[in-house]
Amino acid sequence: MSELPDGREMDVVAQGPREKRAGMLVIAFGLLTTAVMMSVVFLMNAAGFDAMNIYVFVLFPLGALIVGIFAGSGYGLGSWWTGAKIGGTLLVLVLVWQFLAFFAAQFVEYLALKANMNPPLSFWQYFDSSTRGFRLENGPPLGIWGYGLRLLQITGFTLGGLLGSLLLMTQPYCEQCQMYRKTKQLGVMPAGIKPRKVKKKNAAEQGAMQAEAEEAFSGGLQLMEETAEMAQSGDTKTFCELMQELKAQKKEINKQSTRLTVSVEFCPACHAGRLIYKTMQGHGDETIVQELATYQVGPAFVREVRVTM
Ligand SMILES: [Zn+2]
Repeated sequence: MSELPDGREMDVVAQGPREKRAGMLVIAFGLLTTAVMMSVVFLMNAAGFDAMNIYVFVLFPLGALIVGIFAGSGYGLGSWWTGAKIGGTLLVLVLVWQFLAFFAAQFVEYLALKANMNPPLSFWQYFDSSTRGFRLENGPPLGIWGYGLRLLQITGFTLGGLLGSLLLMTQPYCEQCQMYRKTKQLGVMPAGIKPRKVKKKNAAEQGAMQAEAEEAFSGGLQLMEETAEMAQSGDTKTFCELMQELKAQKKEINKQSTRLTVSVEFCPACHAGRLIYKTMQGHGDETIVQELATYQVGPAFVREVRVTM
């Protein structure tokens, strides 16, 4: 135990081993999905479908990329389940394992073919001849240029494997509890007007509509500040009641030109969280969503909102 400046005590050593174990689990999950995926590729290959050698736009290694994404998905899933954050070290390990997995798969392929080789080749001889034998579509074997294609293939596979991990690195995370934060949608608030057709030439009517829209938006901002105040001051009951009321008007609110969405992002363990308000403008494919403001909220609020809403 060591003491923090403000007198609280903190168990410093407790974090270390747990982090290490969780990190190892992430690797284990990743190796498992890699093994499963490479077996699938091997079986498809035996059936005459060479997934690792599918290119689009001549040189883009789409097949290797997709195989890599599936193979490496376990690293991301493992991180999500165990809460072990993927940082620099883990990311490098994923990269190295993915790279090794590529050659392991090649080696298995070699072993399967070895019995029928006459004369028998060493692994590197086999790798060299299959690389030089690469063709672009139905062209002649590429020879030494096959290594260029091989490089693209390895890059696609390795980077595909990193994708899941990179995706998780952008997710909100509670450092203290070593867990990914969750997000819960709470509702939508009015901040605009129902669009209506006004002739461009009708300047007076255009101006009136503009003024109405501005007023509605400042009304939305006020509602945001009021609800955030409720959440922060512990008046969760009023907050939830208001959100329920708004839920009943959801259909009408969603027709408005501008709405505000409210969500809470929180740690499932310590329940520290923040309210996130976003503006939503337009409809359908042309909807624009932008973060407007965030407010820190306490665990009591988060717990209650999780149960009530
Ligand atoms: Zn936490």
